[in-house]
Amino acid sequence: MRVEQLGEGEPEIAIVGGIHGDEPCGKRAVEGLLDADLDVTRPVKLVVANEEALERNERYVEEDLNRAFPGDPDGDTHESRLAHELLQELRGQTVFSLHSTQSYAAPFALTDDLDPLAASVVPYLTVEAVVETANFSEGRLIQKPDVLEVECGLQGSESAAQNAYLLCTQFLAGVGALSDDGHRRVDEVPVFRLERELPKPAGVPGQYEYEVLAANFERVAEGSVYARANDETFVADRPFYPVLLSAYGYESVFGYAASLVGRLDENAAQEHAAERL
Ligand SMILES: [Zn+2]
Repeated sequence: MRVEQLGEGEPEIAIVGGIHGDEPCGKRAVEGLLDADLDVTRPVKLVVANEEALERNERYVEEDLNRAFPGDPDGDTHESRLAHELLQELRGQTVFSLHSTQSYAAPFALTDDLDPLAASVVPYLTVEAVVETANFSEGRLIQKPDVLEVECGLQGSESAAQNAYLLCTQFLAGVGALSDDGHRRVDEVPVFRLERELPKPAGVPGQYEYEVLAANFERVAEGSVYARANDETFVADRPFYPVLLSAYGYESVFGYAASLVGRLDENAAQEHAAERL
């Protein structure tokens, strides 16, 4: 784990990249922030989490770090020990954690629930949606209060790395660590909540050919086919919004079915920001 800092003093804000080793955008953003010589008004901790997995360009070494929290200092796996170490490093801090996906090219934010941090910071971010992970937060860093995750784009893409850097500067403006020049972004962001997994048959590599036939964040009507595995089709038994839906992103699920629970607009954001103060 690599830990760096911008500015002087004890940081109350942290940016974390490289939770997953096959998502280089976070590490690139951290390096970019270090190179940029930003004039921060609050100190910021910068962390590259799973350097071992990044070196191998694999999601993890022994288990998924983002399912291993809170971890254990004497854990059996590299990620269990690292999860514990990372939480110690992030104690008491407001955290922005950078990811990328195989499912969607545009950035979106994830939060355990739409807490004051998410509501006040998201309006600064160029994201298309906010997703509440709700019942699917188990073992993720997002379980910890005051963590906002962001999916920056497609894994390994140049645009994901550029988005990651931009989102970091927007996050820093949102928490008052960088001058925001009064530029809030869009006025309305849809808020989705994960409701259930969309399972797929898991087999040995090559056994199944998967295909997804629905677009993320776009309503799937009851009775329509949203995915295929070889000759088997998967039909929506009720309407839903797909989130993190991809053919090969996960081993045993296509992704998640979500509901649209509201929209985050300027008014809601200000209300929540006031709560936070
Ligand atoms: Zn990730």
